[in-house]
Amino acid sequence: MRKEIQIMDTTRLDGIVPSLLLWFSETARELPWRSDPTAYHVWVSEIMLQQTRVEAVKPYYARFMEALPDIRALAGCQEERLLKLWEGLGYYNRVRNMQKAAAEVAERYGGEFPSEFEELLTLPGIGRYTAGAIASIAYGRAVPAVDGNVLRVISRICGNEEDIGKQSVRMLFEKEIMRILPAEAPGTFNQALMELGAVVCVPNGAPLCAECPVREFCFAFETGRQQELPVKAAKKQRRIEERTVLVIRDGERTVIRQRPKKGLLAGLYELPNYPGFLSSDEALALVKSEGWEPIRIKELEKAHHIFSHVEWRMEGYLVLVEELEKADGDSWLLIEPERAEREFPVPAAFTAYTKYLNIRLGQKKYREDD
Ligand code: SF4
Repeated sequence: MRKEIQIMDTTRLDGIVPSLLLWFSETARELPWRSDPTAYHVWVSEIMLQQTRVEAVKPYYARFMEALPDIRALAGCQEERLLKLWEGLGYYNRVRNMQKAAAEVAERYGGEFPSEFEELLTLPGIGRYTAGAIASIAYGRAVPAVDGNVLRVISRICGNEEDIGKQSVRMLFEKEIMRILPAEAPGTFNQALMELGAVVCVPNGAPLCAECPVREFCFAFETGRQQELPVKAAKKQRRIEERTVLVIRDGERTVIRQRPKKGLLAGLYELPNYPGFLSSDEALALVKSEGWEPIRIKELEKAHHIFSHVEWRMEGYLVLVEELEKADGDSWLLIEPERAEREFPVPAAFTAYTKYLNIRLGQKKYREDD
């Protein structure tokens, strides 16, 4: 028999709407995408905000909008330029899917996002949360938008002890939110709930219950169980990969290569890197096998980078060579480091080593330019 989900008390949600809306009207953060919440603006910001903090997203958002101010500009953008705009945000399939969705919106809907939740769901990369955010915030449709913040807040208010990673829990929360969603301000309510999770009912450490506008309704506050909720299943362990990264340069140029079009970091540009931890002799032998003549080798610091399913543990060498020359048919690009910073999308996984080329990537570049 199918097990029913136990929600301790969803009637606790009944009274939260007025207090939450009042609190939001008085304290909402001013965010660039909130000043003119068109479907395009809501969409781009929501996709960027998945896995990334608000402060880190702001400069990306500004540059993205400057470069690609509307759906058609995004649909027609050259792929490398698009990946460069996304460099450092990670999860690059998100922006590839955005471009596919933009092409569909341009073709099927004349460049205007559809306003209905179900239609939005048919577009590449748009799931229930993003569809709910666009439909409610940009078009005032009465649909929920349940992200991780909302799952946490509702779990604590209602005393939900089921794993919030389950689709059945998400669907039940959507149903409960639908029940209380104010018809005159669904987008504002959804944003208020997300905001509460982002700034008050925070995930790590103690939530700021003393500042919470809905604490009188909250199960976790009443019972002191804030740290136990929400319940989340343990994540699968990441696979560990050891790699050796080589920073190879002559007086002027360095070496990069485009990664395969499929798989991890597909289509991005990388520094030469090899499986396992190589000794300096093994690294020199590799450099020679490419046809370059090493002059000096220096060991660099260790680094690591975490992807969703894999963690790279890296060691590195800086190898100074006689003049770099390209052999016929090889896939290396020999370029001035400034060109790599300007034109080629290089993933943040290499940040520890690109500094030896004076290249700044993604977030670091944006922070220093601002
Ligand atoms: Fe979260 Fe505390 Fe507010 Fe409950 S009272 S919703 S635990 S911040």
